[in-house]
Amino acid sequence: MYDPKSGHADEFIDHQEILDTLEYADKNKNNEALIRRILEKAALRKGLSHREASVLLACEIPELNQEIYRLAEQIKKDFYGNRIVIFAPLYLSNYCVNGCVYCPYHQKNHHIARKKLTQEEIRREVIALQDMGHKRLAIESGEDPKNNPIEYILDSIKTIYSIKHKNGAIRRVNVNIAATTVENYRKLKEAGIGTYILFQETYHKESYEKLHPTGPKHDYCYHTEAMDRAMEGGIDDVGLGVLFGLEMYRYEFAGLLMHAEHLEAAFGVGPHTISVPRIKRADDIDPSAFDNGIDDEIFGKIIACIRVAVPYTGMIISTRETKACREKVIRYGISQISGGSRTSVGGYYEPEPEEENSAQFDVSDNRTLDEVVRWLIGMDYIPSFCTACYREGRTGDRFMSLCKNQQILNCCHPNALMTLQEYLEDYASPETKAAGEALIRREIPRVPRERTREILEENLEKIQNGMRDFRF
Ligand code: SAM
Repeated sequence: MYDPKSGHADEFIDHQEILDTLEYADKNKNNEALIRRILEKAALRKGLSHREASVLLACEIPELNQEIYRLAEQIKKDFYGNRIVIFAPLYLSNYCVNGCVYCPYHQKNHHIARKKLTQEEIRREVIALQDMGHKRLAIESGEDPKNNPIEYILDSIKTIYSIKHKNGAIRRVNVNIAATTVENYRKLKEAGIGTYILFQETYHKESYEKLHPTGPKHDYCYHTEAMDRAMEGGIDDVGLGVLFGLEMYRYEFAGLLMHAEHLEAAFGVGPHTISVPRIKRADDIDPSAFDNGIDDEIFGKIIACIRVAVPYTGMIISTRETKACREKVIRYGISQISGGSRTSVGGYYEPEPEEENSAQFDVSDNRTLDEVVRWLIGMDYIPSFCTACYREGRTGDRFMSLCKNQQILNCCHPNALMTLQEYLEDYASPETKAAGEALIRREIPRVPRERTREILEENLEKIQNGMRDFRF
């Protein structure tokens, strides 16, 4: 029986409840009156239940679909303004003991190059990332208790935070490693991580077990209950995600929202972020071997429906997607994107020789960070390198309540402009710098409070004059 408060995966992701939800959504996909009522509720910006959101996802009435996109865009603007937070993944090791059938790191893949960065190699990678202008990383690793024990991950985090190269600094390290114990989550929290990210891959238990035939990841409940253990270990920012293409997208969508409802019901705080990866071609992986691939249109609709269902949750899109696709879906609710990414182990310091490919998947957006920043600026988005919320302890429910009250706009907008100014001074090409400075000049008058505007202008000037000791 569906029980969002329960600590058991089979109860907070109740299979029958998902099937009933899909049936309900199917029955009502042309029910104009109901869909309008759901849209009215969504317009209150307090979120929707998984059932209501599933009806929107199934909706077949074209003008109401347009309404969903319009509302998603508006909610995005209200909660996140025109800021887009930038990050990069850093692959530490691709040793893995699991058998995930969609991932080239699976244990039986003997031709992929296996690599694990030493602390010295991490230093080189981080310096290369700092020299691009990155301030926020997501570390990635395969699951292998011998090669990648928690101590290795903790040492790596320490190394990353310790490197201060020129004006560079990594100010927030998010962590995407396999499900682990409360004790290990506590250690990660103590190491000062930002968000703990773990993709569910699929919420469909039977498929999950087939897609993860061997290794510790095979255990559906252990994996699905990982965020509960992370919260118990003191990590209050957790990031959910589904790997779209593995199972029926409507099933995954309902499961994802039920997971968010569970975190809210059990811990009083929903997910900090939701990621929406799609399966990509990789070393020995052909995405067409999976039956549930979704096209760009459905992908955009999923993003818009997540946006209206959980307005206060950040949404992440990676370089798995093309520039054109990212351009479209950013409007519907994406708040964080990666840029200049490498998915190989050690690809930032120097490109990998072709015969030594260690990449997790093919990247579709190969532009440099400078190009990504210029592209965002050209669309009137503010690329933000800010990590102030995390550094000031505005995490978990404290962040959520600020975000739900839309207060986050009052501090995030000026902070985003200041971190952009830092980037422009230290790393941008002349073309990007000119475009960025013009954007900042256009944005200053939009800061509502006069005193905040004055402080912002003073700080921008200090940054231009070389001052860097702000706490972003
Ligand atoms: N080993 C950790 C785990 O099991 O969660 C970390 C995950 S891995 C480094 C990051 C994510 O990449 C996975 O959770 C999966 O969703 C995604 N991924 C794996 N293979 C992929 C592929 N072929 N295309 C796109 N994404 C993929």
